[in-house]
Amino acid sequence: MDIAIVGAGVIGLATAWRAAARGAAVTLIDPAPASGASAVAAGMLTPVSELTYGEEPLLRLGLASRDRYGAFVAELEEESGLPAGYRDDGILEVAFGPDDLAFLDDLRRFQESLGVPTETLTGRECRRLEPMLAPGVRGGLLAPEDGSVDPRRLAPALLAAAERHGARLVRERAAEVIVENGAAAGVRLEGGTEIRAGRVLLAAGPWSGDLGGLPPGIVPPVRPVKGQVIRLRTRVPFLRRCTRGLVRGSSVYLVPRADGEVVVGATQEEMGFDTRVTAGGVWELLRDARELLPGITELEFAEVSAGLRPGSPDNAPVMGPSALPGLVLGTGHFRNGVLLAPVSADILTEVLLDGTMPEIGRPFTPDRLEATA
Ligand code: FAD
Repeated sequence: MDIAIVGAGVIGLATAWRAAARGAAVTLIDPAPASGASAVAAGMLTPVSELTYGEEPLLRLGLASRDRYGAFVAELEEESGLPAGYRDDGILEVAFGPDDLAFLDDLRRFQESLGVPTETLTGRECRRLEPMLAPGVRGGLLAPEDGSVDPRRLAPALLAAAERHGARLVRERAAEVIVENGAAAGVRLEGGTEIRAGRVLLAAGPWSGDLGGLPPGIVPPVRPVKGQVIRLRTRVPFLRRCTRGLVRGSSVYLVPRADGEVVVGATQEEMGFDTRVTAGGVWELLRDARELLPGITELEFAEVSAGLRPGSPDNAPVMGPSALPGLVLGTGHFRNGVLLAPVSADILTEVLLDGTMPEIGRPFTPDRLEATA
């Protein structure tokens, strides 16, 4: 089976690895692999904190992916010889005011109703876990099974593992899908080269709607949702685990890495394909992060960047066969693409190689959006 994958972000890369490992001849097409949201993302692995009521199928998908992460990373690190920066030491969510505490209580009830374990903590217990937390923290919730991964390490490891199984990377922009006899037959690159393939996976994040050659009604309805993040550095231990906080109703998170990096995120802005970083974005993040952990002002400022989350009309991924035979969609992962990479790769590999959709992927097929599109 020849497979052409358009887009080498975490979704395209993870699927390339899994499909190549099963013996498919995979060609990955991307002028700048892992340069999209995957290069900016904080890499929190938290299926629950970012969801709201009514998104239970997405929650189940996230839980399934998080539960696969440990084994996924162990296999990946073994095959690639590269570390992925994975941690499974839990995520702490803290609150300041009574409204924030009430929100956390709702979140705890929601999680309990779904059988997701959490521990409710007093302010003092939160500070015992994270001594740098502000004295004003009134309480918190620990999700002991959540964690994080470093997407800037994960992506090169995925590429190395995919290449080890024979996947080929073509560093050029895909211009259009080749359609022959009413089916996708490959991809034409910007320079005119044709990559022939029996199956094409469109995994170009928020750019997935830009690919030429798609018949009307096939274009995936994804849009870019901008997010700015800051990267700080510390030489002394500062934060033990990923910590999220509600500050006057708005959410900020800090994700520590083993090498001393601390990622602070993230804004959420509907600005089209604009990836400029702004003074307002940086100010907002630092202001909220300082309320949570006053000591961050001592940390070295290393970087500010902006990425584009691939958002779909219902905030859920768009995965599975499209109405064009041979063309499979793997996009729309919005705020959870890093978390969802293991389960998405398994789903998309089964769709590409076996032509079947696993039960857990059924709520996310492209046909659910036909009415919206
Ligand atoms: P991308 O990573 O955007 O990759 C798309 C790729 O397609 C790019 O490499 C691009 O070069 C390529 N491409 C585009 N057009 C073409 C073309 N015509 N031909 C060939 N290639 C093309 N998720 C989490 O799970 N946890 C988090 O904590 C988290 N934090 C985030 C914070 C921020 C600020 C942002 C922006 C995102 C965050 N996300 C997080 C979301 C996550 O980053 C995305 O859901 C995920 O990266 C989507 O992966 P992707 O492979 O679909 O797209």
